[in-house]
Amino acid sequence: MRVGIPRALLYWYYIPLWETFFKELGVEVITTPPTTKGIINKGIKHSVPEICLPIKIYMGHVFELLDRGADCLFIPRMVSIKKMTTFCPKFLGMPDMVRFAVEDRNCRILSPHIKAPTENIARLSNFIEIGEFFNKDKKTTARALKRAEKVWLKYRSLNMQGYTCAEALDYINGKAPLPVKEKKDVTIGLMGYVYNIYDSFISMDVLTKLKNLDVNVLTFEMIKPKTLNAPIKKLNKALFWDFSNKIFAAGMHFLDNPNIDGIIHVTAFNCGPDSFLGKLMEIKSEACKKPFMTIRVDEHTGESHMNTRLEAFIDMLRRRDFVKTGEVTS
Ligand code: SF4
Repeated sequence: MRVGIPRALLYWYYIPLWETFFKELGVEVITTPPTTKGIINKGIKHSVPEICLPIKIYMGHVFELLDRGADCLFIPRMVSIKKMTTFCPKFLGMPDMVRFAVEDRNCRILSPHIKAPTENIARLSNFIEIGEFFNKDKKTTARALKRAEKVWLKYRSLNMQGYTCAEALDYINGKAPLPVKEKKDVTIGLMGYVYNIYDSFISMDVLTKLKNLDVNVLTFEMIKPKTLNAPIKKLNKALFWDFSNKIFAAGMHFLDNPNIDGIIHVTAFNCGPDSFLGKLMEIKSEACKKPFMTIRVDEHTGESHMNTRLEAFIDMLRRRDFVKTGEVTS
């Protein structure tokens, strides 16, 4: 039996855990290639028009997996990874949306409820039903999960050493060595969900574009969870949604960090939580006098628009720095 895992949504955060777990159980895993126009078209066909772009893309990957011969799909119901918060409602309803969309296709959906007090979701209660589905006893499932957790912790520790999810994943999978980090004159705090930043269709490969502009980039997954908790504690009221809180906390951390020269927020059209946090960030960055730019993308956004805005933003930061330096030395 081949289990399909869509290369979308939290794939970039949890794939080392999920993939290792299934492999340790002796189950074959297939994933989808990076998002293409064909995949997004499949997603648009099977989604309601008003839903956000990442969900349309997820749906496209689901149908791509079915077309590639997946026998069952792993569509976890991501509930919560912190006390008193939940995932965005789209995550909570994802297995139901997929079940409805694929009802005329012959496939099984594995949708365990994922709930944990921290982002480490490797708890037996979350994965026991998967083991049972594949006729594994509790001990075998627990052992597979322990090994998967070890790989995922290594992956997260690489993130926290400053490697992007893509770099850490290539390293973990033995595809590439870790790149050498160099100090650049400009550092950007890049805000955005992993499924926006690392999906080359949504973000138009913003990380590579920034790398080509010769700047350092810091993303939320590179910041230790403990550090991210501090700005949230200072708020009168945290946001309700797990990853939105992480992104907002990263933004607050970037505002306070003198090494960050400017902040870019990549957001997808029709994202409810981002409409709150984007506005909050706009207000707070204005008060802190830190340059902040929002890049909102949908399935029609052109690449030249993105290139021009990134280049202009980085140029402005370099010129500002030049002016500041001039003032100090004169
Ligand atoms: S947080 Fe925003 S982009 Fe992510 S699934 Fe929810 S609505 Fe969509």
